[in-house]
Amino acid sequence: GKGKLSPEIGKELAVVKKEQEALVLTEHEKILEGRRKLPVFPYREEFLAAVKDQQILVLVGETGSGKTTQIPQYLHEIGYSELGKIGCTQPRRVAAMSVAARVAQEMDVRLGHEVGYSIRFENCTSKSTLIQYMTDGMLLREILTEPDLASYSCMVIDEAHERTLHSDILFGLVKDIVRFRKDLKLIISSATMDAEKFSKYFDDASIFMIPGRMFPVDIFYTKSPEADYVDAAVVTCLQIHVSQPLNGDILVFLTGQEEIETASEILTQRTRNLGSRIKELMICPVYANLPSEQQAKIFEKTPKGARKVVLATNIAETSLTINGICYVIDTGFNKQKSFNAKTGMESLVVTPVSQAAANQRAGRAGRTQPGKCFRLFTAWSFQHELEPNTIPEILRTNLGNVVLMLKSLGINDLLHFDFMDRPPADALIRALEQLYALGALNDHGELTKLGRRMAEFPLEPMLSKAVIVSEKYECVSEVLSTVSMLSLGASVFYRPKDKAIHADTARLNFARGGGGDHISLLRCYSEWAATDYNNGWCIENFVQVKSIRRARDIREQLEGLCERVEIDHKVSKPDDLDAILKAITAGFFYNVARLGRTGDYRTVKQHKTVFIHPSSVLAKEEQPPPWLLYFELAFTTKEFMRQVAPIKPEWLVEIAPHYYQQSDVEDSNTKKMPKMRKNRR
Ligand code: ADP
Ligand code: MG
Repeated sequence: GKGKLSPEIGKELAVVKKEQEALVLTEHEKILEGRRKLPVFPYREEFLAAVKDQQILVLVGETGSGKTTQIPQYLHEIGYSELGKIGCTQPRRVAAMSVAARVAQEMDVRLGHEVGYSIRFENCTSKSTLIQYMTDGMLLREILTEPDLASYSCMVIDEAHERTLHSDILFGLVKDIVRFRKDLKLIISSATMDAEKFSKYFDDASIFMIPGRMFPVDIFYTKSPEADYVDAAVVTCLQIHVSQPLNGDILVFLTGQEEIETASEILTQRTRNLGSRIKELMICPVYANLPSEQQAKIFEKTPKGARKVVLATNIAETSLTINGICYVIDTGFNKQKSFNAKTGMESLVVTPVSQAAANQRAGRAGRTQPGKCFRLFTAWSFQHELEPNTIPEILRTNLGNVVLMLKSLGINDLLHFDFMDRPPADALIRALEQLYALGALNDHGELTKLGRRMAEFPLEPMLSKAVIVSEKYECVSEVLSTVSMLSLGASVFYRPKDKAIHADTARLNFARGGGGDHISLLRCYSEWAATDYNNGWCIENFVQVKSIRRARDIREQLEGLCERVEIDHKVSKPDDLDAILKAITAGFFYNVARLGRTGDYRTVKQHKTVFIHPSSVLAKEEQPPPWLLYFELAFTTKEFMRQVAPIKPEWLVEIAPHYYQQSDVEDSNTKKMPKMRKNRR
């Protein structure tokens, strides 16, 4: 009858259905097929043969060719993981986490088991880990405890072209390690820049090239310079969206979280206003502190009928490859650490990118089809104002941590360390002086007991000093909370534009009772902890849940490290603000500014005019404190002090008598700024 099949047809259909099922690839099979399509795949055997033959290899290939995700797997597949772990370093935490997650997925294993990652304040590995991604900073710390990298059979130093401070130090160290670990395979992996230089540095190591697969990218410039590049980026983005075919996503390069959030807000606003007149835009932010749940979103397939816009820092320049990008909008800026060796000041500044970086950014548009790159600067500026190459970080940083690290690795003669690019001697000397002033080095330039303890902490020397000294002032618990909050690198407070007044009120509530930004951060953390880490409390108080949770993770890590150097982290004096600020001053007496008669602050050390950052709880104080300690300087429109706390000048003499004399601090009414005593003894 109707709807009933004869048994024969039924059987036949069943067979067809089975065949169809076989044709439909499972999600995992699709991933495996994707692996075979990557540019590196045809070179698998050749690469492995080269690794077998040679101890050191420089691997070069376009971004997205599969270096980071595939090479460690290849090494694992032919058995190197039986001899020891396969390590792979990344300059950025987000990249290390995201790549490890991807590789775990490709290998169909649980993240943290066979494939894991370790980044500062987070270890996601186990005894069974065979492939370990990590930040280059973490590998440095591992070398402290395992100087010959005995647990590894292969080490890939990835994104070498980025020339981060940590990777530059790693180069010097691994170059030495391979001399006595003949069985350790070393792969220096880089985008298409600087291959010759790496090869030369590593005693003429062979270069293994993965030929690129690049489509042409048309480059457009603005006719005149843009006054507001964030706004220009948004406008360009919308223009592309309405005028260009839908099958191509947009990648916008901005400088940091704040700008990305602003751009995202404006874009959301404007697309909402345009309503159904335009197709949907899926906005995806990417920056270093982006919580991992949100990271996954950038790799999601763009829904049909929509277009994806990725708003990224230079993390998307080479570290992360997002498929489907055809349009790149390049603001031409990034945030770079910049260091003035003469003044010893280090600040994070928005800086024009180099020509090489701009070209790398443009290349992101041409991975899968011809693309377009819109540069929000003029062609003249590209030719005449941009540096040809990015200056390695080691040449523009405060070397304090580097020195501490190298010293604790037993490398005393820093002036003869085999740097790929030697930092200027005056910067090295300044770092040595600072560590000497902090008490981390003795008269002979050797690490002191204090210095050795400081080196245990993955913190700037000034912060680790504060932690260690907090024991003396019996406020370890409070200083740990403060330092954890300071270490976040971004504000824990959020300030939605439509509720700015409420947000500011909430923030100023933490400032009640004095102590400036440091103590506000402490109060914020303690109040949250007292609610048993309640999310609702965060929302009420305009505190970013994810950031403050990260502070909690950091704090837990620091507690563990305190135990290692035998500091009791439970010691607490919650109401003694002076004790807490004194401990912080013990680390930051270098960063002190004093209110001058003109109403401006001047740094005590260099007599430089500086201002309280508008985000500070002391920014609108009617009676600004005469003496301030600051966490860092940030140069935007002016030289701003970020995170400031009021201090008493007599503390300076008490805490750093080798650095401040009584006469420096008592003449608060005289015209002259205090004369500094020579800080070299
Ligand atoms: P390279 O290191 O040479 O730049 P990768 O190994 O990072 O290349 O990337 C190879 C491919 O893997 C790219 O197509 C990239 O989009 C993809 N990929 C990397 N990470 C992820 C992820 N988390 N999710 C989805 N795809 C990813
Ligand atoms: Mg890579």
